[in-house]
Amino acid sequence: GTVKPPVHIKNEPVKPFGSNDTKDWDLLRASLMKFKSSSLEIPLIINGERIYYNNSKRSFYEQRNPADHKEILANVTQATDLDVKDAINAATLAKQKWYQLSFYDRAAIFLKAADLISTKYRYDMLAATMLGQGKNVYQAEIDCITELSDFFRFNVKYAHKLYKKQPIQSATGVWNKAEYRPLEGFVYAVSPFNFTAIAANLIGAPALMGNTVVWKPSQSATLSNYLLLTVLEEAGLPKGVINFIPGDPESITNEVLNDKNFGALHFTGSTNVFKQLYGKIQNGIMDGKYKDYPRIVGETGGKNFHLVHQNCNLTNAIFSTIRGAFEYQGQKCSATSRLYLPSSKSEEFLNDFANILKQGNMIPVNTAAGTISGGDLHGFMGPVIHEQSFNKLVKVIEDAKEDPDLEIVYGGQYDKSKGWFVGPTVIKCKDPKHKYMTTEFFGPILTVYEYPDGEFSQVCDLVNETSIYGLTGSIFAKDRDIINLADEKLKFAAGNFYINDKCTGAVVAQQWFGGARMSGTNDKSGGENILSRFVSIRNTKENF
Ligand code: GLU
Repeated sequence: GTVKPPVHIKNEPVKPFGSNDTKDWDLLRASLMKFKSSSLEIPLIINGERIYYNNSKRSFYEQRNPADHKEILANVTQATDLDVKDAINAATLAKQKWYQLSFYDRAAIFLKAADLISTKYRYDMLAATMLGQGKNVYQAEIDCITELSDFFRFNVKYAHKLYKKQPIQSATGVWNKAEYRPLEGFVYAVSPFNFTAIAANLIGAPALMGNTVVWKPSQSATLSNYLLLTVLEEAGLPKGVINFIPGDPESITNEVLNDKNFGALHFTGSTNVFKQLYGKIQNGIMDGKYKDYPRIVGETGGKNFHLVHQNCNLTNAIFSTIRGAFEYQGQKCSATSRLYLPSSKSEEFLNDFANILKQGNMIPVNTAAGTISGGDLHGFMGPVIHEQSFNKLVKVIEDAKEDPDLEIVYGGQYDKSKGWFVGPTVIKCKDPKHKYMTTEFFGPILTVYEYPDGEFSQVCDLVNETSIYGLTGSIFAKDRDIINLADEKLKFAAGNFYINDKCTGAVVAQQWFGGARMSGTNDKSGGENILSRFVSIRNTKENF
């Protein structure tokens, strides 16, 4: 098929799900009912072929609703070592045809999938993401609909730009050419639970560039991820291009990283797991396991800061911090998790913060469609993802009660009787180097340090020194010299730096997303950079 040059591409608008009785809600409710307690059987998909646990000797895992942990949403077939080998072989074989298709043909599949997701499958995608990953409708919208389709569409636009780049210089009688080959090996995509959109980009970006993929989805997001792959199939994805192998992370990874044709890791997830995989790949290189130096592209955690200056719009800083810290229960790599307050404003900030949180529905959310109030959010917060996460967060809260250097100034509640609920919690730290100021909790827990108003410059240095991660951060200030000082001193403390805005919610093509230090390889999803990691250029010189 032919595709028009992708110049018309725009960000998909967020649908403002208003009051409960709209047609949008009827459609969404129908999809929610379809998936609720459906115990859907999810197969492996290898070379387009479906393999189910119930007519093979394979085991399965359950994906449950984190808001109601008795409810089983899906029973998922687990890949065996042999399945992993089959998936690798399928990817290797499919590559031959896939990369020889024209870019326009590959692009058409992703553009079509984006359209299907934002129209025909919008409500199913929302329902699968809401139920499986514990999101309210707004958080699901900005993930599995807008960000997801933006990734597919803007990747096409960026790839188009990349493919056109050619050597600058050709001497007389010489013709030079740059050819954007895919990587020779297959790509291993390991996706997280927290964004369906991220999974889509982890598989979609390399595949668009002519690579084929072996994909291990998160055990807590398998339902939405499976649906995504079926949509790609409907859009015309050839068999074997993306092979879906849910299962035990460790055994799948071991199998994959032992393969000679392993060409790249495309990862989003925890820092610990990424470090382990990085190390294993380096050992594999030293042991001569691979044909190439595998590309390693990873985005991991953060301990993202909001730094508030005494002279700023305090209301904006308060609303931004509530949203940054607690939307999606703080389970974004970008979530606000440490806050620096000037002592003269600290009491006012925390009082207003608490009052707004108690009322819940006053939290305004800006969307492309306008401002909607928190009342439209159908529950500002939901459950955390699973029992391990719940237990870990409860321990953080309970340990804080025992520590004389820490004080819980808001929240600290939790309840697991029905779902994995942890309330928004704020913990004050006396010591700015306390581990609570540097450890990522991945939940709705915000740590706060009060600094003397006159020591803004020192506090910038402190934020920088204690940034083990380097993902996101915000400065709230009015004076330009203060903004500039923070900008300069925090140059390497965040890959996504915000001025007078929350540090979450990067939009594809508007804020390229990713961070350095222990947050990852900073290859910037939602931009051109990431696509360049999945090509391997051949230069040809021809004499006339
Ligand atoms: N891109 C998302 C944001 O800026 C976060 C992605 C993540 O959690 O990895 O909010």
